[in-house]
Amino acid sequence: AKYLGRNRYEFYVPASRTLLADSNRLSSELLRALENDEIFPQYQLQFDARTRNVVGAECLARWRHPTRGILGPDKFLTIAEEYGVLAQIDGLILEKALIDQAAWRAEGIAPPKISVNVSARRLTDPDLARGLSDLDIKPGTVSFELLESVFLDRQDAAVMSNLDMLRRLAIDIEIDDFGTGHASIVGLLNLKPTTLKIDRQLIEHVPDSQEQRILVKSIIQIARSLGIKVTAEGVETEEHARILSRLGCDVLQGYGLARPKSFEDVTQMLRDKKSA
Ligand code: C2E
Ligand code: CA
Ligand code: CA
Repeated sequence: AKYLGRNRYEFYVPASRTLLADSNRLSSELLRALENDEIFPQYQLQFDARTRNVVGAECLARWRHPTRGILGPDKFLTIAEEYGVLAQIDGLILEKALIDQAAWRAEGIAPPKISVNVSARRLTDPDLARGLSDLDIKPGTVSFELLESVFLDRQDAAVMSNLDMLRRLAIDIEIDDFGTGHASIVGLLNLKPTTLKIDRQLIEHVPDSQEQRILVKSIIQIARSLGIKVTAEGVETEEHARILSRLGCDVLQGYGLARPKSFEDVTQMLRDKKSA
């Protein structure tokens, strides 16, 4: 029901009823999906802005649904959050990505650094350190992408001690969707992230808006002067890539360079690059 002002509601019964039924069905299926190992990562390669060499791969959660095909995070992350299994999904994506990364290494392919998305729930988990210490994480090969919003509560002791632990394990800290939240740039930079990942919304109009170019350029200059790297996401065209590289961006990611791909497809791409 949509609230239209004092005591006035409008009901969209038919549409919302089917939507609700649909998400109810997915909810009960998600727990089963976790048991049946239906959640897995796809990989979107990231490129050095100057050399265009592959430097990383963002691991994006997918659900191989038995009847609906492959579902993206828009279909299940909210449900996962409601059911309290989002941190579990973050963890299993990391574990699977580490296995895939080891397979690349075994094949003699220079393995890209893997970037995983980490929910606030997971970053505040006091058991995160123990979980990570069980994994074989090589220094400098893994990156955690954290949303601006998780830093707003800087008083959270678990967050602070987990960030220290990430630094000790040489796991990079990236601030994801940078520029969309309400956190102050100074507050964020105080946390000494390895990388700022500028949100797609800020990147989109870089080719046609001088204001956006100035904004992005200023962010890059501040970050660089503090030794923080900058990644641009949502790089959709060669023009975007050229401009962002000229503005001093370090790493580029977007459909214009590579779409998210299955392990098999991304492995083939890495092999082709190796022999090229
Ligand atoms: P994100 O972290 O901002 O990830 C980038 C999203 O933008 C991905 O969508 C990717 O497919 C899409 N994208 C990449 N390049 C382009 C482009 O050039 N243009 C456009 N329009 N889109 C592009 P996806 O895979 O649907 O993921 C959506 C969001 O779900 C992610 O946004 C991230 O916040 C969340 N997510 C994905 N996997 C996980 C996970 O394992 N754990 C958690 N907590 N969140 C995840
Ligand atoms: Ca991300
Ligand atoms: Ca984003």
